[in-house]
Amino acid sequence: MSSPVSSATEPDPILVCVAWPYASGPRHIGHVAGFGVPADVFARYQRLRGARVLMVSGTDEHGTPITYEADRVGISPREFADRNNAIIVEDLRQLGLSYDCFTRTTTRNHYRVVQEVFLRLYEKGYIFTRTQLGAVSPSTGRTLPDRYIEGTCPICGYPEARGDQCDNCGNQLDPVDLIEPRSRIDGERPEFRETEHFFFDLPAFADRLREWIEGQAHWRPNVRSYSLNLLPDLKPRAITRDLDWGVPVPLPGWRERPDKRIYVWFDAVIGYLSASIEWARTRGTPEAWREWWQAPGARGYYFMGKDNITFHTVLWPAILLGVGDLNLPFDVVASEFLTMEGARFSVSRGRVIEVRDFLSRYDPDALRYYLTTAGPETTDTDFTWAEFVRRNNDELVGTWGNLVHRTLVQAHQNFGAVPEPGALTERDRRLRAEVEGGFSAVGGFLDRARFKAAIGEAMRLASLVNQYLAEERPWHRIKEDRARAATTLFVAIRCVDDLKTMLTPFLPFSCQRLHEMLGYTDVIAPQPRVREVEDDGGAHLVLGNDYEARPRWAPSCIPAGRPLPRPAALYRKLDPRVVDEELDRMRARA
Ligand SMILES: [Zn+2]
Repeated sequence: MSSPVSSATEPDPILVCVAWPYASGPRHIGHVAGFGVPADVFARYQRLRGARVLMVSGTDEHGTPITYEADRVGISPREFADRNNAIIVEDLRQLGLSYDCFTRTTTRNHYRVVQEVFLRLYEKGYIFTRTQLGAVSPSTGRTLPDRYIEGTCPICGYPEARGDQCDNCGNQLDPVDLIEPRSRIDGERPEFRETEHFFFDLPAFADRLREWIEGQAHWRPNVRSYSLNLLPDLKPRAITRDLDWGVPVPLPGWRERPDKRIYVWFDAVIGYLSASIEWARTRGTPEAWREWWQAPGARGYYFMGKDNITFHTVLWPAILLGVGDLNLPFDVVASEFLTMEGARFSVSRGRVIEVRDFLSRYDPDALRYYLTTAGPETTDTDFTWAEFVRRNNDELVGTWGNLVHRTLVQAHQNFGAVPEPGALTERDRRLRAEVEGGFSAVGGFLDRARFKAAIGEAMRLASLVNQYLAEERPWHRIKEDRARAATTLFVAIRCVDDLKTMLTPFLPFSCQRLHEMLGYTDVIAPQPRVREVEDDGGAHLVLGNDYEARPRWAPSCIPAGRPLPRPAALYRKLDPRVVDEELDRMRARA
């Protein structure tokens, strides 16, 4: 066995924290473009190089939008969350996102961990109470969240400003400042009542956060500068809400109150920690999470959309600093936004495509390929059906699929096995060296979360092998010089085997099939499974699996003589007419 090329010693533990999808409905492809797919590519690559990876997330299920949506549908918040959790888990499974533990924020374990963190911060004096004015619906007696209140902007006079922000002048607002405030649910005028809440003392961490963020030269520059700009304006931030749906406040006199709950933002960020603890407990090794959260060499990578940077570079790190014995994030990988056919995703305008709808007609690897090569890694990008079809047909099928197909078909038809090579020519050796160099080039990009560059390099190498085959033409030469054709196909098969390994993080479904077509019998791209896990509050779904971390990020050693089964096509070429069909579907939804 050859050893992995990217590191000589055993890699440090890698924690992969993926933003928690809000359980308000099915996910659309914009949701998974920015964090789900990149995080999975990263985790799969790290496992292939032998790192012990823990990838965690879950559905974020508290907060007022859930209670309002549940009311609208006429079911309890819990039922509403159950329904959406099950849908989202299935979406993520079908996409092949290899979470170790994808759970939810309504488990007893999560409640316990959130309350422990709250108490630790409270005991250290980082949490205090303060009275503020809160909007209440006079007819229901329920708290109205800021974004459910609208009125005239006190700064610019815009008549439809929201309680949290004016979309006209962009200023942050407080609902109590609005002129003529009204509820967006029923139009009634809210009452403002004094209410006591807990606040987290963010300014206490400003200096330590600045020092820490300034030292993170490896972060994407926009993430670093955006985060530094937030620090001068840090204010204490409310961590409780007038609400009956959420984690109870773990203090005497508060715990029993039905109308006070921990604010959803505070409980959701703690989910990374609680999911890790759940994973460890479920395996019967309750202390194992510490390896990813407390060991000095462990690295935590956080994946999210750019609208969530604040939570991951300021709020969560401040909580971690306050708790005191947990590792800060190593990298915060924020992506930009994906738009669709030139405009923002909009459920109400039908300008949206849900993951499950997409996967009912197209293969998950085709979507993963598109989102990696044309996704919003560092700039906002636009999903178009025309570009999806073009990339699928010209690149995935035309370059990579074609290379695999002609190599394996020739080898299978003429030899039925990996052909026995003669002496390699200078040209053969040059090609092998270049393709083998991909392990450090592609791996280097992946280590720095540069996904587009990584897959671009792998595809460039695939083109080189295609070019080699076009020059050597083993299918012609087979008649006059069978030995040379055998050598050429042997070289090409080793290159295909190398590229299979490099592309496995991006294209796990097709690369596993290719792995088997190359005569391997083990699993290179394990897939997550949905299980029901018992919690002391009941049972809940968990998406996860035990993925082996076995170093295989290394050049092919596939032996000559290994029998090759009959190859099948890895990818489907799409009829260009699907572009118009999909655009018609989109118009019909609008
Ligand atoms: Zn305004």
